[in-house]
Amino acid sequence: MKFQVPRGTRDILPPDSDRWAEIEAQARRILSSYGYREVRTPIFESTDLFVRSVGESTDIVRKELYTFTDRGDRSLTLRPEGTAPLVRAYLESSVLRQETPARLSYLGPMFRYERPQKGRYRQFWQIGAELLGSKEPAADVEMIDLFVSIMREVGLTHARVLLNSLGDSLCRPVYRERVRDYFGAHLDALCEDDRERWKTNPLRILDCKIPKCQPILEGAPNVLDSLCEPCRTHFENVLGGLRAMEIDVDVAPRLVRGLDYYTRTVFEVHDSSLGAQNAVGGGGRYDQLVEELGGAETPSIGFSIGMDRLFLATSEEHPEGAPAEPDVFVVARQPEAVTDALLAARALRRAGGRRDGPPLRVMADVQRRSASSQMKVASRAGAKYVVFIPAEADGYAVRDMAAGKDETKQTDLNQLRDWLRERRRERDASNPRENS
Ligand code: AMP
Repeated sequence: MKFQVPRGTRDILPPDSDRWAEIEAQARRILSSYGYREVRTPIFESTDLFVRSVGESTDIVRKELYTFTDRGDRSLTLRPEGTAPLVRAYLESSVLRQETPARLSYLGPMFRYERPQKGRYRQFWQIGAELLGSKEPAADVEMIDLFVSIMREVGLTHARVLLNSLGDSLCRPVYRERVRDYFGAHLDALCEDDRERWKTNPLRILDCKIPKCQPILEGAPNVLDSLCEPCRTHFENVLGGLRAMEIDVDVAPRLVRGLDYYTRTVFEVHDSSLGAQNAVGGGGRYDQLVEELGGAETPSIGFSIGMDRLFLATSEEHPEGAPAEPDVFVVARQPEAVTDALLAARALRRAGGRRDGPPLRVMADVQRRSASSQMKVASRAGAKYVVFIPAEADGYAVRDMAAGKDETKQTDLNQLRDWLRERRRERDASNPRENS
């Protein structure tokens, strides 16, 4: 029997996994610089949490949940998104409510039973941020600025920000009815999915990508003409704030999002290099969600970024990921010296002070191969230096692999480590890319 990775999932292998770790580190750096603190919630939650928050009529809840019953007869669901779990944690843990607004973030895998294609998987990763407890337009501006900063940090510079408002509990139902009436008069010209959406969630028709539906969509009522006064003012203040911060956005009145909880501001970031699945991420306000899940009135806004798409959109510029070559390969001259080689490798890796940078990357052979085979392994791995064990009476023999020459011997491992770190500093100085 041969096992395969489940449909819609994949293994992330080196060197891609190096680049993934780099993207995670870059995103975490920016989130932390804006004061957002990470919350790690479980991978599964009670099914009801998602049905109540994401919405019964959404595609996610109707068709895409990974739901199972555990041995205690509870209905659980692998999380399809990160906001509902984070709000659940916020309501459950008073530490998260100490500051208003609360600035929180998450990073991890999400699960949706979707039709797999490039950029769309059944397990995918999201980085998200939530600002809970502010109704101010400045909160929306901070969120979009944070999103754009993460894009910039990972090297995605041509993405477009689309912005819209969906109104609130006052004006949205009115707009919804206008949209229902409009599409009701054109049902025959719409695709089957749209006819279904018309019954359950007519705003979602605006998001249809089927070419034959586009002419009908173009004539649909514009949400921005239906906003009530407070929603209109909010939207204009958000636009003004973004202008002041020199963040370019395109107003996109047909932008609706796949989750029911959004109110007022919604936004999405698109990158044309991604093809059909061009959304890098998106977000919006959810002024009622916290109350709907049992909390006090807590107007909030958040976003999530698809890491798989960040990876796809930036991997051309960063094909090699972080460097993986060992600084040192320790070669045991005789098979009996294998433990001595491991001991020396451990000593050479030992972390120094801040100035010394990260530990040296040191590998040793565990296969009891001949010294000449170990040299070949070291060379294939791209090791910069080889250190021979055992040491001779006058010190450790060291070979510079690139130059193919033997160095002066170093008498003890501490000295040797300092000397190797110095060589790495010189390499980094002459090749800043490896240092990043
Ligand atoms: P959403 O929670 O649907 O607003 O999605 C936010 C972002 O997550 C999207 O813009 C995508 O970048 C990413 N995303 C959503 N679904 C998938 C999927 N099935 N595979 C890969 N990325 C996804």
